Amino acid sequence: MKKSKNISCILLAGGKGTRFGSFCPKQFLPFRGKPLILHSFDLLQRFPFFQEIIVVCEDTYHSFFSSSLPLFFASPGERRQDSVWSALQKVSPTSDFVCIHDGARPFLTLPLLEAVINAGIQYKAATLAVRVTSTIKESSEDLFVKKTHPRQSLWEIQTPQVISTSLLHKAFLALDSSIEVTDDVSLIERLSLPVKIVESSPKNMKITHPIDLQL
Ligand code: C5P
Repeated sequence: MKKSKNISCILLAGGKGTRFGSFCPKQFLPFRGKPLILHSFDLLQRFPFFQEIIVVCEDTYHSFFSSSLPLFFASPGERRQDSVWSALQKVSPTSDFVCIHDGARPFLTLPLLEAVINAGIQYKAATLAVRVTSTIKESSEDLFVKKTHPRQSLWEIQTPQVISTSLLHKAFLALDSSIEVTDDVSLIERLSLPVKIVESSPKNMKITHPIDLQL
């Protein structure tokens, strides 16, 4: 891969981790010798073509991070998308693409990162994902099965997601703020623009519940 574009990296660590139920947000818990968040932070540092890295986290955690790249911090927002918007305000005006990664995914690899960045540059929006292996059903409010979705075309979405910086900005401005999105390429889908899927590995899992760490 050659450096052809200015790519900014956004690492999200602003969640409160309420589903995890620990004494501090899950991304700062010790895991294999260092805070969980540093597994993805250290991996992202090894990618040679980021122009900057923006970490979204509370001020108390700034001292966890140091980098040879220009490093900036953004304050977390209420929802994930508010944290991404907050980070976007810190992105350099020269940035062509943003690469957004959940700090709660410690097992990202350089080949996966490079694959999604290449697809992002080619298609303007790309995400890592794995094929769904379980049968997925939709339920009614009172927990009866409403519909079974054919799993051949279903994907479980991961991060990083790589999006043209100007396009992401435009997508945020077009979004009705009452609408919640749980990933970033959803904003591009809402503009009816294509999002490329790059097949990933189930190892790039997100730590959500204590059992995930044990696994
Ligand atoms: O809640 P969820 O597990 O989907 O969060 C994914 C990532 O987004 C986590 O790394 C979390 O710290 C981050 N996040 C954030 N700000 C929020 C909510 C989540 O930075 N308000």
